[in-house]
Amino acid sequence: MRSGLPIMLAVTALLLLTFVVPSRSIAIEPESSLGVVYADGRATEDVPLYRVDESTKEYYLSAYDLARIFRATKFWRPGARKLALRIGQRRYLFTIDTRVVMVDEETCLLHVPVRYVEGDVMIPLVFIPLGLAARDEGGLDYDSSRLLLVVGSPRYNVESITFLNDESGSKAVISLTEELLYHVDSETPGLLRIKIYGGKLNPRKFTISEPRGLFNRVRAEQTSHDSYLFFDVSGSARRFRVNVEPDRESGKYNLVIYLEKGELPEIPDADFSPRRMVEIFEESERKVGPLKLVAIDPGHGGIDRGKIGASGVMEKDVNLQVALMLADALRERLGVDVILTRSEDVLVPLDKRAEIANSAGADIFISLHCNGWFHPEANGVETFFLAPARTEDEVRLANEENLSLKYENPSMSSREVSEIQFILWDMVQNEYISESSELAEIVQQELGSRLGIRNRGVKQAGLKVLKGLKMPAVLVEMGFLSNPEEEHLLTTYEFRMKVVNAIVDAIIKFQERYATAGG
Ligand SMILES: [Zn+2]
Repeated sequence: MRSGLPIMLAVTALLLLTFVVPSRSIAIEPESSLGVVYADGRATEDVPLYRVDESTKEYYLSAYDLARIFRATKFWRPGARKLALRIGQRRYLFTIDTRVVMVDEETCLLHVPVRYVEGDVMIPLVFIPLGLAARDEGGLDYDSSRLLLVVGSPRYNVESITFLNDESGSKAVISLTEELLYHVDSETPGLLRIKIYGGKLNPRKFTISEPRGLFNRVRAEQTSHDSYLFFDVSGSARRFRVNVEPDRESGKYNLVIYLEKGELPEIPDADFSPRRMVEIFEESERKVGPLKLVAIDPGHGGIDRGKIGASGVMEKDVNLQVALMLADALRERLGVDVILTRSEDVLVPLDKRAEIANSAGADIFISLHCNGWFHPEANGVETFFLAPARTEDEVRLANEENLSLKYENPSMSSREVSEIQFILWDMVQNEYISESSELAEIVQQELGSRLGIRNRGVKQAGLKVLKGLKMPAVLVEMGFLSNPEEEHLLTTYEFRMKVVNAIVDAIIKFQERYATAGG
């Protein structure tokens, strides 16, 4: 009897707690947790991680937790479906159902989109390595295999490296938080070695594997006392000069390595204009107006037959027939005008396709294709938007679809065609990337849920046909012609109608979102 009272009290307390403690707004159960260790004295914590999408294994964390970890200022505009976090000196702008995160004026692409679940914005965990650690935000140390994050621990005094190129040569600007001594040698021809005494840097951030002007490559090493930077220098660099220059704006120092092409009378002054700050939500102005004109692009045509199925079905024919059905459905159901990049069996160059859509002033662009692979088992539907390819499969597809270029320009080698990939990345117009990513999500959602074939998800790739378009644009791979079952499906009216209805409904949803998002 004596022990009865404490137990009852404990039970009552428990019951009270269950009702009083506000539960997190997320309806889904956490699947794992991220261990967060703080160097600023805050208590170590486990932050819940969620799987938001059945289609992907990627973990997500709540924007609420992310903001707290990084002491970020939050700006949330539900109408525009945008969340901005000010972390350190940078502004990160997330848009729901989009993979693109705007970092000031740059874009950062994630593998999976930001989601909105039960009142909470969910941020893919990969944002921490790709968005924050890659920019050395808050001195992060992130271990993806152990799901462990150390915030603010390593105090780097060698912060970043940037490159500037002009006709006289190239320079690498290394930002130092304090004035440090250095030593340069170039005993090995073509290799410049710089030791920074007492330097502390994040080697990953300083490792550059593609050429930047006269710098071919950069490798960094960190010892317990000093930092080393190894510059692989182009043969056309005639001389080098290294200087430490105070940066009055920031109170920091710049270690500048000049590489010059020839004998020049003067070494140009370093240009350290302060970074332009962007006002919050500057780009939240709507880029998508009410839809009036939709461009439909049936892939391939003429001598470029595209993929060919085992029983001889040609991609160029499927693409055109579905495109014509889609055009009718859009006119009827949406009352919009439609422009086709081709309406018969002819070869239209990839550049020309973008030009047709641009000069007509199309509001969105839908390119229709069929997939193919060596193994007949490969199957499913996927939607692409223009962005650098992230996976081998995305690279493969971009190469294959860009092969149309070979028909336009028979002298072009496959290698040249595949190099277009890299050129494309430079040319990606960031302006519509967010909208394209969102359109791709909606289109793929509709296709994936209705076609009854495997949902391969949204992909990103450097697709030539989407380049230069001044509107949101996606490319749909409706199914695999190399898969006998799908080859058959692609010839049936029912399956084609499902594709058409899915795309029309997706366009309606896309339009509604932008209509309600306001200006
Ligand atoms: Zn194709």
